[in-house]
Amino acid sequence: MYDYLVVGSGLFGAVFAHEAKQAGKSVLVLERRAHAGGNVYCEQKDGINIHKYGAHIFHTSYEDVWQYVNQFVTFNNFINSPVANYQGHLYNLPFNMNTFRELWDIVTPAQAKAIIAEQRKVITGEPRNLEEQAISLVGTDIYTKLIKGYTEKQWGRSCTELPSFIIKRLPVRYTFDNNYFNDRYQGIPVGGYNKLIEALLEGIEVRTGVDYLRERAAYRDTAKTVVYTGSIDKYFDYKLGQLEYRGLRFETERLEEENHQGVAVVNYTEREVPYTRIIEHKHFEFGTQPVTYITREYPADWKRGEEAYYPVNNARNQELYAQYAALAQAENHVVFGGRLAEYKYYDMDDVIKSALECAKAHLHG
Ligand code: UDP
Repeated sequence: MYDYLVVGSGLFGAVFAHEAKQAGKSVLVLERRAHAGGNVYCEQKDGINIHKYGAHIFHTSYEDVWQYVNQFVTFNNFINSPVANYQGHLYNLPFNMNTFRELWDIVTPAQAKAIIAEQRKVITGEPRNLEEQAISLVGTDIYTKLIKGYTEKQWGRSCTELPSFIIKRLPVRYTFDNNYFNDRYQGIPVGGYNKLIEALLEGIEVRTGVDYLRERAAYRDTAKTVVYTGSIDKYFDYKLGQLEYRGLRFETERLEEENHQGVAVVNYTEREVPYTRIIEHKHFEFGTQPVTYITREYPADWKRGEEAYYPVNNARNQELYAQYAALAQAENHVVFGGRLAEYKYYDMDDVIKSALECAKAHLHG
């Protein structure tokens, strides 16, 4: 009998498994897909790492998490500076002095502040949803051109029905700074994310192509504790109802040119373009290959049986999640962790931090 059966080999599962092994425990990892690594997994083609499940850019301000990942891989100096394309015009992201200059032809931060202050007057009182939050942060022009269409297609809902915290992920700056993140540390693992996952799982038995929930009976007595990182509602056979997720569809193309869009990420912020962004993967690692790969990312409604990418953290879903979380609490010898099991829009560094804390509590607690 193993000490731990870890279900899912994404960042949460891989970090937990690593920590358990370090603590002298025996661990078996099960992975439904044909490969380990969850959504950070990359596929290499023509020497280019393709982010198969969407762009992943590591960024953190946690000193301990940064030290932790740097034990396994080194990071390059990639800085995410995406560009927004709205009706054929390009604007810098996140919202900063470059964006304001492109929109309004202004020169000083004071001028930008004055325009935004005027536009945000339409919102009085505490913002109650994403639309109100966005307008109160950056005014109506930016909301209309760079936020509304992108957000509504990404989430498949009106901005008035979405929680405001989503938009607070984005910085707003009155400096000429196109770095999408505010974090102290940022980069892509040299050689790709698979190196990080391989290093975390080194010496650990991983069985791929195994759907734990389908084969639950067969694995009943395999381990003293199960660490489950899949969807929490699926674990309980949807018995209280279904949580909502957003799905994604990726269309990848090989192009016979060296440099297609000049940047890793271009967001298409108008509603009429069906994809939210085009990723040109080689730029994550400053590739100089003669060819390139681009991926169009289409948001999609999620249906059972498909990959769930984003939890939809609105009030209805949070209430249902709380009920599932109570069931999870009562489930003996099972630990639930990660984006799907905790129904939480975790960034990579947060999920690593959470896995480390969880491991600490279980292994040394
Ligand atoms: N967002 C936006 N316009 C953009 C980029 C982002 O309005 O050009 C908003 C949108 O609401 C989105 C949120 O910011 O849901 C977070 O976007 P991000 O690209 O950081 O999310 P990711 O999918 O990378 O986690």
